[in-house]
Amino acid sequence: MALIVQKYGGTSVGTVERIEHVAAKIKATRDAGNDVVVVVSAMSGETNRLIALAEGISKKPPARELDMLLSTGEQVTIALLTMALEKLGAPARCYTGAQVKILTDSSHSKARIQEIDAKVISEDLKQGRLVVVAGFQGVDQTGAITTLGRGGSDTTAVALAAALKADECQIFTDVDGVYTTDPRVVSKARRLNKITFEEMLEMASQGSKVLQIRAVEFAGKYQVPLRVLSSFKDGPGTLISFEEDDMEEPLISGIAFNRDEAKLTVLGVPDRPGIAASILAPIADANVEVDMIVQNVSKEGQTDFTFTVNKVDYDKALEILRKIGDDMGAREVYGDDKIVKISLVGVGMRSHAGVASTMFKALSAEGVNIQMISTSEIKVSVVVEEKYLELGVRALHTAFGLDEDNEAHAEGKEPDA
Ligand code: ASP
Ligand code: MG
Repeated sequence: MALIVQKYGGTSVGTVERIEHVAAKIKATRDAGNDVVVVVSAMSGETNRLIALAEGISKKPPARELDMLLSTGEQVTIALLTMALEKLGAPARCYTGAQVKILTDSSHSKARIQEIDAKVISEDLKQGRLVVVAGFQGVDQTGAITTLGRGGSDTTAVALAAALKADECQIFTDVDGVYTTDPRVVSKARRLNKITFEEMLEMASQGSKVLQIRAVEFAGKYQVPLRVLSSFKDGPGTLISFEEDDMEEPLISGIAFNRDEAKLTVLGVPDRPGIAASILAPIADANVEVDMIVQNVSKEGQTDFTFTVNKVDYDKALEILRKIGDDMGAREVYGDDKIVKISLVGVGMRSHAGVASTMFKALSAEGVNIQMISTSEIKVSVVVEEKYLELGVRALHTAFGLDEDNEAHAEGKEPDA
């Protein structure tokens, strides 16, 4: 008998019919002999609808009251789902975050979970009941309702799984797992049976949007095995877990890409200690996050700097950089927001040389020029012109044997343990 935490996202509980369908799935898991704790999101579109209501009154509604309002979305779904379970003859109880209780700090709209007192849940499980908990919400020391940030129900599920020491946390969503890359870009993208936490974090931070990043971090930290599955289609989904020493890891697990970055360059600044700090500190002070950074070798005591920021910060960062460039007597300052970042992700590259060169060859064979490169132990990222996104990702997907019809890969390198 296992303890399983299941989370159903907004689309999965988007209508009363879908809620009844979800109830049947939960009951089946219980009938197979498991204890089940369920976390649900608000019905799809509901959180946005509530935000729009608040904005109808004020462009900047008080954060405490906004959280009070947004938490109602999930309160509706826990009640309806529990009614549906009872209708199927499965004893069940539902709780808000405050009732559980999920204690958070007081940063409304982006609260962090501090502690979970899961006594009521454990007691219900002991009594043979299913337990349904509202995702995305908690309560602070003062009793004010808080929310965890958009997509936060994933984090609720993982945190509950950690607190209850669940055997698995299953995230049910509208896709049937984590793919080698976005199937809308590469039709031959494959569902992965397994991926490691580290790889999933890279995929998520490079633009793959299947799971909230915070939930993946949490699961890795507390060693909660996480599975992404479809609510609509049966299948094993994708298991996110730890690397296994005895397993031959595939070289590359996935290709992520990010369209949200822009590139800034300053040419001909003096090459002396402190130069990087004096360029990047004002950018950081303006609350602009920097991703990739490249400094060129110096020539005649001068050097060049290029870095990337999120597109929403592009104008602000360029303005700051122009000012810095003037102060330093830089030769030129310019920017480009028509770029994308493409990243190969795979723990297998730790033990294999030549991944980067295969990547560069595959891109050059398609005439794709690489503007920036950065590497980590399990990732190689390149910045290329925006118009080459599809071409580049497809070429790499094929070059690294990830295409759906690739027999060798399907047979040899994807153990479904
Ligand atoms: N309902 C919240 C949102 O739409 C939380 C969630 O769905 O995870 O962001
Ligand atoms: Mg969601």
